[in-house]
Amino acid sequence: MSKKYRVGILGATGTVGQRFAQLLDGHPQFEITAMAASDRSAGKTYGEACAWKLPGTIPENVRDIVVQPIEPPLDCDFVFSSLPSNVARETEEAFARAGYPVISNSSSYRMDEDVPLLIPEINGDHTNLIQRQQENRGFSKGFIVTNPNCAVISLVPPLAALHRKFGVTEVVVTTLQSISGAGYPGVASMDILDNVVPYIAGEEPKVETEPQKILGILTEVGIEKADFPVSAQCMRVSVVDGHMVSVRVNLREKATLEDVVDAMRSFPSLDLHSAPKVFIDVTDEPSRPQTRLDRDNGNGMTITVGRVFPDNVFDYRFVALSHNTVRGAAGCAVLNAELLISKGII
Ligand code: NAP
Repeated sequence: MSKKYRVGILGATGTVGQRFAQLLDGHPQFEITAMAASDRSAGKTYGEACAWKLPGTIPENVRDIVVQPIEPPLDCDFVFSSLPSNVARETEEAFARAGYPVISNSSSYRMDEDVPLLIPEINGDHTNLIQRQQENRGFSKGFIVTNPNCAVISLVPPLAALHRKFGVTEVVVTTLQSISGAGYPGVASMDILDNVVPYIAGEEPKVETEPQKILGILTEVGIEKADFPVSAQCMRVSVVDGHMVSVRVNLREKATLEDVVDAMRSFPSLDLHSAPKVFIDVTDEPSRPQTRLDRDNGNGMTITVGRVFPDNVFDYRFVALSHNTVRGAAGCAVLNAELLISKGII
């Protein structure tokens, strides 16, 4: 039997932390051996500390793990981090410095020049930044990799398909983001029920800057970012899970509608345990994707795209959807770990 890696989760009791516990239950390569969270939780068992919000009960294998403070050492080979960004910066560095690979969901390091911002199917080669990061920061074995903002993960896969084939020159995007994206308890029910809130603190700058880094080219001196501008408006809507994005895009080269759809449909997935069979699923159904019906496509790891049409102002428009706590957070981080292992980096 192949070796199981011992995994720690920082922020284990939160919305994303719970998704990690769920996705790693029965994972063939990973076994959770450590969980850490705030002083409110440290010292309690996971079962006592965690207000479990996912369907079903807390997985048996983690229920009795005693939650630790978010400091190294932890009894594990590497850590997944789902900490709030204000504590993630210092804590993730401390773990990397102590020799742990850190696979983070937080925004703290995403835009640092020597930190990979990964969607494994798209820019797995950016893991080559890790050696530079270790040299720059004096990390011996440890390092930090990140996954994108949870709305960016709906936007970038279809953009990647178009950028590779035709070159993207301009993007306008409006996001319709679920309440679980704000963590727990997140947005007050009085604010979000029967409502749309056209503001998510700090979100628009992330959606306007992360895509160019992910779609950038790795060079001798670092990542040369893609050079198209993105204009983003981010809305919180009254759904529990799933971030939809409505996109308009201009292309450098002319492309027919068939070319555009084919570029998305033919974008390959990966041969890794958590990778979906189909990475970008383009539907012809006029009323899809719908958040409730399509967020679990490919076990929550597929990006569902629909409403692909020529546009009156831009070249093309489309709608894309992904599951924010799976593909947009824990699932993407687990896939990052599988990628790092397949490359011999962990
Ligand atoms: P959350 O539900 O609020 O959970 C936060 C977690 O961090 C809890 O385990 C909490 O522990 C712990 N924590 C909070 N303050 C702490 C402190 N001062 N010291 C130590 N631990 C602390 O948040 P979330 O939605 O899971 O988000 C976690 C991170 O993932 C954030 O950076 C977020 O931006 C990012 N992210 C979230 C999503 C999403 O869809 N939710 C998607 C992508 C990325 P206690 O339970 O003990 O308080």
